[in-house]
Amino acid sequence: MLSGLHLTTDIVRRIERIFESEIEKGLARGSGDPHVSSLQMENTYIPELPNGTEQGQYLALDLGGTNFRVLLLELEHAPDGGRLQDIVVREEVKHYHIPDEMRLGCGRELFDYLAYCLHDFVTDKKVEGALTEFNHNHDGDRHQSPLPLGFTFSFPMEHHSLDVGILVSWTKSFKCSNTVGHDVVKMLREAIERHGDMDVEVEAILNDTTGTLVQGANLDPRTAIGCILGTGSNACYIEKASKVKHWEGDRHGEKEVIIDIEWGAFGDNGVIDFMKTEFDREVDNKSLLVNSFTFEKYISGKYLGEINRTILEKLCREGLLFGGKASEKLLKHDSFSAHFVSLIEGDTIQGITTETEKILKDLGLKYTSDDIKIVQHVCELTSNRAALLVSICLATLLRRMNRPDTTIAVDGSLYKFHPRLKTLMNKYIHLLAPGKKFRLMLAEDGSGKGAALAAAIAKRLRRRLMN
Ligand code: BGC
Ligand code: MG
Repeated sequence: MLSGLHLTTDIVRRIERIFESEIEKGLARGSGDPHVSSLQMENTYIPELPNGTEQGQYLALDLGGTNFRVLLLELEHAPDGGRLQDIVVREEVKHYHIPDEMRLGCGRELFDYLAYCLHDFVTDKKVEGALTEFNHNHDGDRHQSPLPLGFTFSFPMEHHSLDVGILVSWTKSFKCSNTVGHDVVKMLREAIERHGDMDVEVEAILNDTTGTLVQGANLDPRTAIGCILGTGSNACYIEKASKVKHWEGDRHGEKEVIIDIEWGAFGDNGVIDFMKTEFDREVDNKSLLVNSFTFEKYISGKYLGEINRTILEKLCREGLLFGGKASEKLLKHDSFSAHFVSLIEGDTIQGITTETEKILKDLGLKYTSDDIKIVQHVCELTSNRAALLVSICLATLLRRMNRPDTTIAVDGSLYKFHPRLKTLMNKYIHLLAPGKKFRLMLAEDGSGKGAALAAAIAKRLRRRLMN
């Protein structure tokens, strides 16, 4: 019953070839051309990485995961082992909860709430340079420029420039009306305007993988891939600008540019349906956004627990687990989280059953020692599949970029808390990209810090173009 979760060498090679060809097709698409690939391969218009000279105060917004966050970062440059590095000398962060009604409600209300949180943050943290009255004198004349802001918005967007991002579709647990097809920077600027009192300039819009790559490059200049394994999953990498057909506005001699792959949607056109199991079909059918983000549903934290729950429910129904008696909790959608998977995998590694038993008890299940082994085996299988799928994609990127040495910056709750993912990924990437030198590096809070750095880069580019 579980054999479909094993990816044979043949299947792995097939997925690899398809991923490569989807990359090529996605890159070859010009603006306005029809979508021929499930990979968006979006141009982020970020052609440079931090060069160690960024400084000043920057605001950052981070929307896309569980919480909404507002940050203030003050950057200074400092020599670090012979090279300049941007260091954070002041950091303020505040988390805001976004209630379900707002995630699923009207877009204008969501953005009004973001503007409200931003205002709450700048007044609470006394960020005076972000307030209109502070930046203008009595006659209303400006004596200080607006505070630059970087907006991390972790959903698929179509970029027209560094500060234009048209929402393509919602993912994860968001589904707001009147937003798809709209420029989220414009929506944010208008909401800030409606709120009043604030003097900030949205310099750049980016997604969390881009933030992670930018922040990673600041920590280790060999960084050329940014990857998120959290609620959702995705990656971006540095591509030769000449390979990128989708480019609006003038090119300014850019040699490279960051491409946001949006690999969560890999296979939405059916190209890897051969690996889909009945469990994956069921997870998709019960999800908020059915028939979309096929690949993300195999690997990311939002779905990994639910895949396991679906399998356990099925095994139970067949009389193969828990004496055929499921508990009410086990039958409930989303009652088995990715965090459970991490805990159970922790047990398996140590050859113990403590956490596994605790979870089964909490789920109201009666179990035997065989049941424990089966549950642990299921978690191992699904974790292994997720690690292998992510590794296929990362190895493909390493082979494609063909750099002498590449650091892959990774962030996200699943990567941080799953006890085996990192080891498995290291093993599989080595196997699938033989001879390629790489390392996985945790770039914590790339989506926040990266946004501030991206705003600084955007400002630098703008200034250069004006001169
Ligand atoms: C979004 C990506 C994002 C990823 C990780 C996906 O659902 O489409 O833009 O990078 O989640 O947060
Ligand atoms: Mg995030």
